[in-house]
Amino acid sequence: MRQKLVAGNWKMHGSLVQNKVLLDALVTGLKTVRNVSCAVCVPYPYLFQARIILHESNIAWGAQNLSPFDYGAYTGEVSGPMLKDFGCRYVIVGHSERRTLQGEDSRLVAQKFKAAQAAGLIPILCIGETLAEREAGATEKVVAGQLEAVLELSGIAALTSAVVAYEPVWAIGTGNNATPEQAQTVHAFIRQGLTARNPEVARQLQILYGGSVKAGNAAQLFVMPDIDGGLIGGASLNADEFLAICAAAGS
Ligand code: PEP
Repeated sequence: MRQKLVAGNWKMHGSLVQNKVLLDALVTGLKTVRNVSCAVCVPYPYLFQARIILHESNIAWGAQNLSPFDYGAYTGEVSGPMLKDFGCRYVIVGHSERRTLQGEDSRLVAQKFKAAQAAGLIPILCIGETLAEREAGATEKVVAGQLEAVLELSGIAALTSAVVAYEPVWAIGTGNNATPEQAQTVHAFIRQGLTARNPEVARQLQILYGGSVKAGNAAQLFVMPDIDGGLIGGASLNADEFLAICAAAGS
């Protein structure tokens, strides 16, 4: 039985004051939540604050990106070992906002995935199709291709210490979540493809759904057999919403 995971992606939001209120509420609210792992992926400047507030809680923390390199003349970049220094457990790689806005292709995402694992971090690998790709019937081809780049570089065994997040681009930040059936279809496709290569790896892999998850739709999504939790953007900035989503995953 896979443990459910709910991870918040704060994106480029927060301030020291706002974060303290939010994190304090999560620490208190998640004390009694069972059967679910929870994490927040915060902007780099707030990792220290997250570490201070969360280090004795049952909430993990992480970042939203990393450099494919460990150190060197890469001005403005942040490496896996630096994130590890701040106690990060997770790092998001390949988020669609970075693929689109920063031009990150699947080859670079695969390098970041490898760098994350080399630093002892658990990458949360985001994959998902655009609306045009879905309408062209290319959803499976797109997600399989995004996953393949990682498998080619790191091998299937690397998925034993990784998380995959299926995030249809058309559902992110739009309020239009995939239906539980739409999401389950893609999650099952991902797991079946991996089962053919290594059944044990496929069986234990946490596959999260992301895209306009909120308190009101979380339970219906999380009840699907191949949905192992969620990657939560907007709703992770609201303590009540995030706590309700975590509770839905744990019930
Ligand atoms: C995300 O940023 O990964 C995301 C899923 O955003 P939202 O929940 O706001 O759609």
